[in-house]
Amino acid sequence: MSTLTKQAREIIRWWWFGETARERTTIAGYTRHYFGDQPWGGDRCGCVDDRCIGFHHNDETDCECLPAWLDDYVKAIRGGAK
Ligand SMILES: [Zn+2]
Repeated sequence: MSTLTKQAREIIRWWWFGETARERTTIAGYTRHYFGDQPWGGDRCGCVDDRCIGFHHNDETDCECLPAWLDDYVKAIRGGAK
């Protein structure tokens, strides 16, 4: 199991804020959205695919998958808040 990089954690935390405390992106919420009750099983860059660094990109800091995963997570938060 890998751990998210500091950069990935900051991106996730600051990605989106809704109108209430419940409506915002968090590391725990992001992990739960994709892995349920399991611990984080993606790659360190924040990608849900555990083989992203070295496969989709070489550096830990330039993941282009993360925004797409986060968008999907935000849609789920907004959908659930209605
Ligand atoms: Zn990545």
